Amino acid sequence: MSYKTLTVETDSDGISLVTIDLPGKSMNVWDADLIADFAKWVDEFVGDDAVKGAVITSGKKSGFLAGADLNMLGGGGPGENKGGVPSTPADQFEAAFGLNKMLRKLETGGQSAKDLKKGTAHAKPVAAAVNGLALGGGLELVLACHHRVVADNPKIQLGVPEVQVGLLPGGGGTQRLPRLAGLQNAAMLATQGKPIDPNTAKAQGIIQDVVPAGDVVAKAKEWVKANPKAVQPWDKKGFKFPGGGGAMDPRSVQFFMAANAMAQRETNHNYPAVQYILSCMYEGSIVPIDTAIRIESKYFVKLLTSPQTRNMIRTLFINKQSAEKGEQRPKGVPASDIKTVGVLGAGLMGAGITHVTVKGGMNVVVLDRDQEAAEKAVAYSKKILDKRVARGKLTKEAAEEFLAKIKPTADYNDLKDVDLIIEAVFEDPDVKADVIKKTEAVIRPDVIFASNTSTLPITGLARNSERPDQFIGMHFFSPVEKMPLLEIIPGKESGDRALATALDYNAKIRKTPIVVKDVRGFYTNRVVPPYLNEAMMMVKEGVKPALIDNAAKGLGMPIGPLALTDETKLDLGLMLVRSTKKELGDAYKPTGVEDLLEKMVEGLGRAGRVSGGGFYEYPEGGKKHIWPGLSEHFPLADEQPSLEDVKDRLLYAQLIPAAQCYAEGVISDPQSADLGAIFGWGFAPWTGGPMSHIDTIGLEAFVRTAESLAQKYGGRFNPPEEFRAMAKGGKTLYPKAA
Ligand code: NAD
Repeated sequence: MSYKTLTVETDSDGISLVTIDLPGKSMNVWDADLIADFAKWVDEFVGDDAVKGAVITSGKKSGFLAGADLNMLGGGGPGENKGGVPSTPADQFEAAFGLNKMLRKLETGGQSAKDLKKGTAHAKPVAAAVNGLALGGGLELVLACHHRVVADNPKIQLGVPEVQVGLLPGGGGTQRLPRLAGLQNAAMLATQGKPIDPNTAKAQGIIQDVVPAGDVVAKAKEWVKANPKAVQPWDKKGFKFPGGGGAMDPRSVQFFMAANAMAQRETNHNYPAVQYILSCMYEGSIVPIDTAIRIESKYFVKLLTSPQTRNMIRTLFINKQSAEKGEQRPKGVPASDIKTVGVLGAGLMGAGITHVTVKGGMNVVVLDRDQEAAEKAVAYSKKILDKRVARGKLTKEAAEEFLAKIKPTADYNDLKDVDLIIEAVFEDPDVKADVIKKTEAVIRPDVIFASNTSTLPITGLARNSERPDQFIGMHFFSPVEKMPLLEIIPGKESGDRALATALDYNAKIRKTPIVVKDVRGFYTNRVVPPYLNEAMMMVKEGVKPALIDNAAKGLGMPIGPLALTDETKLDLGLMLVRSTKKELGDAYKPTGVEDLLEKMVEGLGRAGRVSGGGFYEYPEGGKKHIWPGLSEHFPLADEQPSLEDVKDRLLYAQLIPAAQCYAEGVISDPQSADLGAIFGWGFAPWTGGPMSHIDTIGLEAFVRTAESLAQKYGGRFNPPEEFRAMAKGGKTLYPKAA
């Protein structure tokens, strides 16, 4: 029998070595071919008396198996059918349950649960020889084997990350994990989706053996030979969950009560996957495994058919991956070879950019006004590396090697061999003009020049350049080493090579890139200020500050807008208001919070967290809390709005400017608008992003709500005309179901 995705070699003892190796792919995943091949092999294995047992391994250096190919699950929502996705829930159940049935057949050897329990039958032994990461469906295959051997490498990730795209482990993970590791460990793994290393997995009972990498197959085979009759623990008589399980066990009752409450507190009811995982574990723990995996498949399909899950899969997996692979890279431009980057400015941003560039495998020459200032970039990286060394995550030698790749300087001549420039000096057009000229005088004429400006138009800055076609914007976010988004902004004259080089560089530092038009604030800074302003407007109206920030968290924002304003500094907000006013003159449109900013910063000295406090008080060693003085200066209204009203205002204060950006072409497609929102300012990930969310709400309902908010609170909530027209035409932002 021949297969597309695996090879089977059976030795003279009748032990088959099954090597999974998807042709043409860098990593093994469960795709339609592998599922078909594996099902075929399981049938043969179970039916062939000459075969006595099997070892399953991977032919990829990159790992064992990374889970399901999510394209296959149809993240292309609403209804966008990217890979032969079953169309009815009944078909989807059959497809989901198919994988479960196949793995169950492998572990039972095709015998009935009754006979296994009675001890009158057994399965052929199957061991997993895991040489690299096993995630999601990959780990679920490992769990369905009777014995699990993993290479001794702390970098190997074992886990079930499905929850991160709104799904649950649907290949038996919600059932086998608690039966191996206990409910608590299993719930942690599956509801948080964070992987663990082989030794932790062994300590939790998930795998049995951690051995040197070269020995995994031999050790797995040894076990198979020594154990000709295999039965999973849960198929044996008298099986009990480690640490207790089942509806009658007081330990599990207590666990589920606490776990449910905690899950809802963490997720604000926005992520049904978390609740369904716990439901699978609860319901599954009171029935035999054959019923339990049916329950799991039922919840899996329930999630898969929800628009939010489809949106999450589409944005957080499919579109994120294609953006990171350089989907927006102009075709036909040869790949750039960036070995050394010149970073101008060693301040907060320059130091962060230096760090991620070295982490991305490049060298950096970082230039500032004097040597001492330039050295700050080295100190910045050293601080990050020292922490990792202290935690045992990095060797001292590796840290030294990292720092040796940074050359701090105040001498422009040191830039003469760099392959790319990223400028992050003061946000002052004259300073920037000066460094552009000085830099271009020494660098090779083919080198691309990128500016990290946050407010100055790229086209204007490019006028200082001799080579405006090689000039581009690269807008990083602070702190650079933590924030996942990079906005790339071609100016009017930027050429294809500038964009291609920016994306090539991005691929090395592994951020999520979006390409944005050269307008004031680009994309993210067009949307975030109106959102923060809305929260401050509410403070002025007397809405309770805690209600405002909690409403935002209820929406799924990681932090409330008032707390965020404290972080991003009120004085910076005030400075921006003043500079925008000066620049735009009569064309300046008041935001309505100019007076609040002025009062907070200049009247009350409440400029934000780093200046000792803003809307919040930050007691040393204590928890932050709303500044008690706030209500003296902005008295609370007698009548407070409902939580839902506040949520709507805060949600639409983001949806409307995001829609405006899309309507105006600031951002060219819904995909980028969604990625930029989630990875740029933490827009509620469960929605799949603002454009996905507008589709979920429905354009007509979106326009109606926006109009009623505009009537109540002002024209800033008016939806863009283009969206009104789309609503009338019954259109959607993403392609509709066929
Ligand atoms: P910063 O003040 O921390 O650092 C600026 C650095 O530039 C300083 O070290 C300064 O000595 C150096 N510098 C000034 N003039 C110079 C000159 N003529 N030659 C060489 N070096 C010079 O500022 P920052 O926050 O790092 O911001 C830098 C740039 O990044 C600005 O354009 C800013 O708008 C942009 N930006 C900032 C953020 C942020 O959150 N801070 C985010 C995105 C973009």
